[in-house]
Amino acid sequence: MGIACLFGHKWQGCKCEKCGATRDKGHDWDFNKCKNCGKEWLADRDGPELERKLLSQNDLVGRAMILQTLPQAALIYLAENSTNFSVVDMAIPKITDEDQIVRIALKRGNRDISYKAVIFADKIENIEKFVNDTNSSVSSFAKEKLEAAKLVTKEEIEDYISRHRYSMNGSVENYLKKRLKDMEQN
Ligand SMILES: [Zn+2]
Ligand SMILES: [Zn+2]
Repeated sequence: MGIACLFGHKWQGCKCEKCGATRDKGHDWDFNKCKNCGKEWLADRDGPELERKLLSQNDLVGRAMILQTLPQAALIYLAENSTNFSVVDMAIPKITDEDQIVRIALKRGNRDISYKAVIFADKIENIEKFVNDTNSSVSSFAKEKLEAAKLVTKEEIEDYISRHRYSMNGSVENYLKKRLKDMEQN
């Protein structure tokens, strides 16, 4: 520590902007590496310890606060490996790459995870992977979402919504409304 920081560092995320000292807090993650200090998150080394830390937190708020600080690599690790469903449940919505969510769901073969994967999937090829799911609630949801995903124009989507207004799965309805909104903005 330089003399400049004798009375405290000037933290900018994980790094002191005056002397360059680092701390394990406030990282700016790019998948598994901090863009600011270079720290790496490695599944084999850091995964089991992270899960222990999460499970030692009894309340969900504490867990959510830890999850907020994690790199994508760690969230993927938890979704893929955790034996605790509430941890998996909290990690999945924070994963930004739908291909990863789909891959994890297919690997785990759990109804709730697969259902979530269909909710997050936007690409037709990803939704198609659940159409023949062994779980009937997953497969029927995937079929419905696939039908909606194949609609192309604004008119087709509006027509579909008005015809299925009372029978549509809520998440399919939200998905179509979001597509309409995106179309109006572009
Ligand atoms: Zn400093
Ligand atoms: Zn950092």
